[in-house]
Amino acid sequence: MKLEVNEHGFFGEFGGAYVPEMLYPNVTELQERYLEITSERQFQEEFDELLKNFAGRPTPLFHAQRLSEEYGCTVLLKREDLLHTGAHKINNTIGQILLAKRLGKRRIIAETGAGQHGVATATVCALMGMPCVVYMGEVDIKRQALNVGRMRLLGAEVRSVTSGSKTLKDATNEAMRDWIANPHDTHYIIGSVVGPHPFPDMVARFQSVISAEMKEQCLARDGKLPTHVIACVGGGSNAMGGFFHFIGEPSVQLIGVEAAGHGVSSGRSAATIALGREGILHGSRTLFMQTDDGQVEEAHSISAGLDYPGIGPQHAHLHVSGRVHYVQVTDEDALRGAKVLSRREGIIPALETAHAVAHLSRMSFKPTDRVVVVISGRGDKDMGTYLEAFGERISDDV
Ligand SMILES: *Cc1c(COP(=O)(O)O)cnc(C)c1O
Repeated sequence: MKLEVNEHGFFGEFGGAYVPEMLYPNVTELQERYLEITSERQFQEEFDELLKNFAGRPTPLFHAQRLSEEYGCTVLLKREDLLHTGAHKINNTIGQILLAKRLGKRRIIAETGAGQHGVATATVCALMGMPCVVYMGEVDIKRQALNVGRMRLLGAEVRSVTSGSKTLKDATNEAMRDWIANPHDTHYIIGSVVGPHPFPDMVARFQSVISAEMKEQCLARDGKLPTHVIACVGGGSNAMGGFFHFIGEPSVQLIGVEAAGHGVSSGRSAATIALGREGILHGSRTLFMQTDDGQVEEAHSISAGLDYPGIGPQHAHLHVSGRVHYVQVTDEDALRGAKVLSRREGIIPALETAHAVAHLSRMSFKPTDRVVVVISGRGDKDMGTYLEAFGERISDDV
């Protein structure tokens, strides 16, 4: 199977660009130019150079021996947690700021929930000397003081959004409003494979470096492709990056892990694929959690990065076509996954990543299986949650 976007921005029945008329000029400009610009040799050289010497690519593919023994297969960890700013998000923000410069933009805006995408955006804006405005809900600003401080230290202006539920979706609305008001000089850096065409395809291409490296690293190890690739899915960018070059390799099983929160049917989850129905969310046709009358439902996950009621259109298509298998992992199991990776391999993962790790224990493998887990980010930002959740038992074994 191939995963190619058609000229209208669709992956099968999902995707497209459902935007208000006032956004047409911005979105159309991007649609018309992103492929031409990103395939220029000079663009690619500059992108590769920054990925290498600023972000720290290629990231290692680490053979996790103790986990391999525990699960009876070869477990390989793709170490995106070692990148600058602590997660895969920097791959995308580097790509988009280079594109923005070539489009002649002088100002960057972004939205952020937990603050990770805001930090990655503020980082590349500092690097390029571009002014940066990050929209963030008032509630999230209070919850994520450390990331707000990082963005400010990097020179970004963090604008508090006080409308609606004062969280991510309201911040997204404000960013859209800003973009409409500043169509000529501003680029909006979206942080995952979501939003109107061309964002899902563009972000997937920038993140596809993850699977390009994985493929090369696996072949260099033993001349074979992996048998499984496992990644967590919030909006879906680290997973798309990890799956991208394996979608056309039917021997590779692809598994996306979404957040089940308190349980898939608890009413407190972010299990978009399990619970979602088709509709239009943030400019594209996709699956998202909605009420009977089609309103967006609030998502819940212990990890802020998975706490999103929708998923990118590629994932909706990969689910419906059966190419990717999507599973759900609860808050409690994710916490256990975080502890397992910390204790067995000396790697404290982000809570998002811990969902992917946790799923390993629920699968059965053959000794010849080669399983790659995308370690999307590191756990420093989640230490407060870990301390609170484990309490006195933080040093107990698992
Ligand atoms: C933001 C984030 C995610 C979720 O976003 P995707 O677009 O689904 O990758 C996952 N892991 C980490 C570490 C993150 O920061």
